[in-house]
Formats: sequence, structure tokens, C-alpha cells
Amino acid sequence: MDVEILAVGTELLLGNIANTNAQYLSQKCANLGLSVYHHTVVGDNETRMTDAICRALDRSDIVILTGGLGPTEDDMTKEVCAKVMGFELAEDPHTKERIAGYFKISGRKNITENNWKQAVVPVGAKVLDNSNGTAPGLILEKDGKTAILLPGPPNELKPLFEEQVAPYLRSLQPETIYSQMVKVCGIGESRAETMILDLINSQTNPTIATYAKTGEVHLRVTAKAESEEQGKKLVKPVVKELKNRFGINIYTTDEEESLEDVVVRLLRKYGLTVTTAESMTGGLLAGRIVNVAGASECFKEGFITYSNKAKRKFLDVSKATLKKYGAVSEQTAKEMAKGGIFAADSDICVAVTGFAGPEDSPEEPRGLTYISCYIDDKVFVKEFHFTGNRMKIREQAVVQALDLLRR
Ligand code: ATP
Ligand code: MG
Repeated sequence: MDVEILAVGTELLLGNIANTNAQYLSQKCANLGLSVYHHTVVGDNETRMTDAICRALDRSDIVILTGGLGPTEDDMTKEVCAKVMGFELAEDPHTKERIAGYFKISGRKNITENNWKQAVVPVGAKVLDNSNGTAPGLILEKDGKTAILLPGPPNELKPLFEEQVAPYLRSLQPETIYSQMVKVCGIGESRAETMILDLINSQTNPTIATYAKTGEVHLRVTAKAESEEQGKKLVKPVVKELKNRFGINIYTTDEEESLEDVVVRLLRKYGLTVTTAESMTGGLLAGRIVNVAGASECFKEGFITYSNKAKRKFLDVSKATLKKYGAVSEQTAKEMAKGGIFAADSDICVAVTGFAGPEDSPEEPRGLTYISCYIDDKVFVKEFHFTGNRMKIREQAVVQALDLLRR
């Protein structure tokens, strides 16, 4: 079964907001084993919306529409979709009651006449109760085609999808989809793919798909099976083989866990504290660590020592080292890490220094980065040559620093 995602809203076309709902829905559909072949965006215009819905229903089995379910005049997704698919509209007493209840709970008294417009639904549609807003989600089925209407605000759309749409979509499929994520760091996408090309090519069930993220590669192993149990059984040996091949480069097999989550989890597990000493990354590394709930247990201090003066002042990097080797050097990185550990009295310090660009100069090869780690009276350092623009280079440095901490 294939899916089309049709986002409604002139503000999307104007570029005022990004179509994150389409991204979210696509990811969720992929996890459910559904193929998404088209993303469409249409403004709040009856003629063009009619056209877009007709085309989507013509070429796709399932169309998921988002946005335009609000109470105002320009919100017309439900009306247009019902008209296209030949559904009558009528007030749904259950939804009316729920909307009244929603207003009561949220303390809103100014219910206007157009709010009741949201209690009007296509007759015969499945109504999905929205616990975070007034507009209900709707499922319309006709002649083998399905339209799923969801409100635009992501905080309403996501729970509706998770709790009601995903089980519905699963029920449409004869087989269960079971998938397992394997997240790899420290290996580029093309090398990772080469390492498992034989597996990718020989596997039909489960399949392996690779996705590149800055500094990381995510591998999804997906099996089609009669039951979740059987799916797990099919996926297990493939994941085991991936573990054999990637070894320590795999940092998690948990879908929800990020690299910084793993770092904080491990530091807390071993009761270790960490300090960051950053030049090129200017606090990005510390920011990623502090993003994780519970980071206060293991993150002590972060130094942003962008200038040479700051490196000397806060991290006690020697003048001679800076003069002889320069700020971007193995020696400076090591002294930064050492200085950080003494200044903050932590168990570990990770230091980053490099050239993010943008200008290439003969003495300053853009992307050249040194990451150093000081732990247990030992200091080690790694050299990297990142490519991409300034931001990409800085992000890759952060990922490698986190990866170093994890090991
Ligand atoms: P409302 O009742 O708030 O009017 P609605 O279902 O009519 O909801 P829209 O009016 O289209 O939805 O959009 C409301 C808000 O939801 C937008 O201002 C935007 O913040 C968010 N939104 C809408 N569509 C998308 C989208 N495709 N991706 C991300 N956010 C979106
Ligand atoms: Mg609206």
C-alpha cells in the first residue's frame, strides 16, 4: 500500500513554516512498512485543493492530509475532501460534547459559532478524538481509497497519529512490520555501505536501509512477518551480523537514543564527570551534552576558549606551544584537555580545536581538527579532516568528540 502526504496551508507555500508534519509522517509510515511516494503541499484555496486531493486519491491508496481543520473560513480541508469523495456532512453529537468539554477544561468561555463547525463531520467517517485540541481527526474510506485528515499543529497531530492512526494503518496490512535500528558512528556512509553491501544485496526479508546523519550512519533492519515475534526472529541474526561487522562503532540499537544520551548514560553509570574545552565548536559540544536530562550529574564545566589569549588564560596552554605549533595542533589540543581537567577538577576533559573555515588558506586547511581526551592521567589526541561548510565541519567535530567520550 502506498501513501501520499498532502499538507494544506498557504503559510507552508510562503515559506513561513517548514513542513515538519510531512517529515514526521513519512518517518512514521516508513517504520510501519508503508511506501510514501509523494509529498504535496497546497494552499488554502478550494479549486487547487480539490485538484490536489483528486490527484492524490487517484495515484495513491492512502492520502494523509494535515492542516486546515480549524474553525476559521480558510480552513476547508474537511469540506473539500468530503465533497471530492462524496460524503455528506452532519453534526456529530459526540464530537460536539467533546469540544464543549475541551473548552470547559481549558477554561475558555468564548466559544464562537464557528467553533461548532469542528463538530461537523463526514457521515460514515471514523472520528478520532483529539485530546489536545478541538478539531477531530477523520478517516474516510471509499472505493478502496482512504483519506486520513489530521490537524496541522504538531502537538495535536503526533499523539493522534501515534495513538489512533498507526494502529489503524497496521490493521490494514496483512503482515506485521518489525524493525530494529542500529546507529553507527565513526564511519562514513559510503564506507559503511561498502562494509555490508553483500548483506544489503542478498537480504530481501529483512531488508537493510542506511541513512546518513552528520557524522553518523543509521541502519534500519526491517522484516515483514506474520507476528511481531516472528519479525523479531528474522531481524535478530541480521542485527548480530551488523554488530560483528561494525563492532564498537555501533553506539546504540535503541531507536530513541542519541549519541549524547549514550555518553551521559555511560558517564553516570561509571560515576565520572566531564569538562569540555572548545575552540572551533564554541560551546556546541557542551550544548549537546547539557541537552540530555540528567547531565548535571556528570557535566561540570565547559570552557569556550576561542582566542589564543583565552586558551592561555583559562586552560593554561603555554605561549611556547601556541607559538611553535599553532592553535590548531596536536600539542595545543592536548594542553587544552589537560588544562580543562585541572581547572574544573573533573575525571575527563575533551578538547576540540580546528579550522572551520570558510576561507581556505595554505597554512589553514579547512576541516583540519584535533580532538583530545584527558582521562586517568593519560591524554590522547586524534586528527580529523572534515569536509563541508563551516557548520557541517563544526557539527562533525562535535559528533566525533562525543564518540571519543563514549569509547
Ligand atoms: P488550527 O485549528 O490551529 O487552525 P488547522 O488544522 O487548521 O489548525 P492550520 O491552520 O493549517 O491547521 O495550521 C495551524 C498551525 O499548525 C500552523 O500555524 C503551524 O504552526 C502548524 N502546522 C500546520 N501545518 C503544518 C505542517 N505541515 N508542518 C508543521 N507545522 C504545521
Ligand atoms: Mg487553521
